[in-house]
Amino acid sequence: MPILGFHITTVNALPEDVYDVVIDPGHGGNDVGAVSGRYMESEIALDCALELKTQLEAIGLKVLLTRDGTESEEYTMYNIYDEDGRITMANKSHAKILISLHLNSNLSDNVDGGVEIYASPNSNLTLAKMLADNIVRTAGTQYSTMETDKIEEGVYVRTIELQNYRNSSSYFKTYNGIFDSIPYLYIIREIGGIATGAYVDGTNKAYGVNEYRNSNVGVEGYLVELGYINVDEDLDNILENGNLYAQAITNSIVNFYEIK
Ligand SMILES: [Zn+2]
Repeated sequence: MPILGFHITTVNALPEDVYDVVIDPGHGGNDVGAVSGRYMESEIALDCALELKTQLEAIGLKVLLTRDGTESEEYTMYNIYDEDGRITMANKSHAKILISLHLNSNLSDNVDGGVEIYASPNSNLTLAKMLADNIVRTAGTQYSTMETDKIEEGVYVRTIELQNYRNSSSYFKTYNGIFDSIPYLYIIREIGGIATGAYVDGTNKAYGVNEYRNSNVGVEGYLVELGYINVDEDLDNILENGNLYAQAITNSIVNFYEIK
């Protein structure tokens, strides 16, 4: 019996380039992400991603990593729409979902750490909520107290803010049909096809072309901010119990897709 789009029962018979789940360890190459002392977001995210890959493979899923810590990730990282870029890799994988792993760092006054799950408003937010609940319960952390973009406890949908693309050359330019209701986080937006308004079409020469931007069959993306790297309680917990965070994500996928 096929299980809601997963290929679990035929994993060994899958074509080489077809996967069930893509794990995207945030940042990579020269981009180390957030830093706290000697700890780098890119390395912690990769460690957690490798553990998650092991766990998902143990239940029979076929898993693709967008980077693995080797030298080639420099290319994957900075040419995201090229053949071996992380956006293209995810799009070509035919995977059901992508889990992008990050650690947060920008603290506002009212945030003292905790988990945040970012998803497209068109994604299934039930899975996003399960991810948040399971991580809080299994890894013994808390829901982030950040209120911006919060839909439910632990679940966030970020949208483009006008100043993000009007006032800064470092942000994507706007194109026809792009509204401020479209999710901002690029990995979620760009892999989600038409459902998330993937829009890098080559008009802006600073970026590549997302060949899949009009795809109707994009990968559903969930970006997990495991915790805040500059909150000791979060960092210590992630370093000591990274396997529990991975277990919580694995359990969410098992429960949501009713994998037996
Ligand atoms: Zn990050």
